[in-house]
Amino acid sequence: MIVVIGGGVTGLSTAFWLAREGHAVTVVEKGIAGWEASGRNGGGCSHAYSPLFREEQRLWPMMDELLGHPTEWQPYRIRVALDKAQLDRLKKSTQLALDQGFAADPLDARQLRDLVPWAPDHVAGAMFWRCGGHANPQRTSQAYAWAVARHGGRILQHTLVRSIRVAGGRAVAVETSAGEIGCDAVVVAAGPHGADLMRPLGHRIPIAPARVEMIVTEPVPRIAHGGVDGNGLYGRQTLRGNLAYGGGPHEWIDLDGGTTPRAVTTPVIASLARRLSELFPRLGHVRVIRSWGGIVENTPDGRPILDRLEDPGNVVFASMSSIGFGLSPASGRALAQLVVQGHCDFADLSQLRLSRFGNLPADWRDRLGWTTAPP
Ligand SMILES: Cc1cc2nc3c(=O)[nH]c(=O)nc-3n(C[C@H](O)[C@H](O)[C@H](O)COP(=O)(O)OP(=O)(O)OC[C@H]3O[C@@H](n4cnc5c(N)ncnc54)[C@H](O)[C@@H]3O)c2cc1C
Repeated sequence: MIVVIGGGVTGLSTAFWLAREGHAVTVVEKGIAGWEASGRNGGGCSHAYSPLFREEQRLWPMMDELLGHPTEWQPYRIRVALDKAQLDRLKKSTQLALDQGFAADPLDARQLRDLVPWAPDHVAGAMFWRCGGHANPQRTSQAYAWAVARHGGRILQHTLVRSIRVAGGRAVAVETSAGEIGCDAVVVAAGPHGADLMRPLGHRIPIAPARVEMIVTEPVPRIAHGGVDGNGLYGRQTLRGNLAYGGGPHEWIDLDGGTTPRAVTTPVIASLARRLSELFPRLGHVRVIRSWGGIVENTPDGRPILDRLEDPGNVVFASMSSIGFGLSPASGRALAQLVVQGHCDFADLSQLRLSRFGNLPADWRDRLGWTTAPP
């Protein structure tokens, strides 16, 4: 039995790939599957800086068929730079995609307006990525969960994992609020709570929780490629036409602080709305109708940790560092391979190992400087 702790997209995707290959798998989720960051994110699937990018791009077009349920995945990404600093960043990220054999075309202001009629008349630059894409986070989480069940996997919701019991250098059971589950291997995919579960096993995992917010507008006429980023924002147009956008600022939080960390704040919403109306000036009149917050966990270098530990040798740890939705088809497949064969045969995961944080300064969180104050 392989026990996966956490029913977000990372744990569910891992369970899906394992169950699909006939492994007995149980996902243990303290709340509702997909209720945390996995169901609350911007839906972006365009992570050119990740070693899993190629696999992310290969798998998304197949996911509806593989899972048997719609994810609302749509290809391509339009990226807009409103000033020189944004253009420099856009050029860098585009080069990463080009270097991996993907295509991207520069757009002048008129070409951009043809694709995105609400775009500004003057932009510093814009690119049409013939890669990347976006999907519906709630649909996708649900699709993974149904696919796990269809392949014989079990998902225990409202079941808290309290600890991992180790004997003879191996995890032998997971202690939960519903009793003990014996296991041959464990995958820890518990988002911001992963570090707490690993501490009793002697591992200090440098991840810190942060709150991120999104806004949703009333519907506007559908455009052909509804994944448009820019002005520090990421987001997508839903099938109904709403624009769902996020993009910081991020705020470090304390999960035990007695606050409601998923609550939204007026300054962040105002900042998101202002930047969205700068990105789409012709939509300045469109109202924000919903907003929400979600919790991500971040590593010091902003990259995920995907690792099979040496001790206990049958524990695989995953933390997606706020880019885990789009990567989930690939990260789940990689994690399933780490469980079954000890290595990933389609991507080099060496840069995502936990050991890279060996000499971490104690104040790494402060050095990143995240704050509640909108830019
Ligand atoms: C507003 C927002 C926008 C984002 N935008 C994007 C984007 O556009 N593209 C992108 O790729 N990523 C985006 N992200 C990040 C992405 O959502 C996350 O990286 C991803 O969902 C992480 O998935 P996960 O399964 O690893 O973690 P989570 O979704 O956090 O799931 C972990 C699960 O573990 C459960 N759990 C925790 N502790 C225990 C325990 N002790 N016992 C049992 N269960 C436990 C939790 O209840 C939770 O359901 C965004 C995130 C937010 C919040």
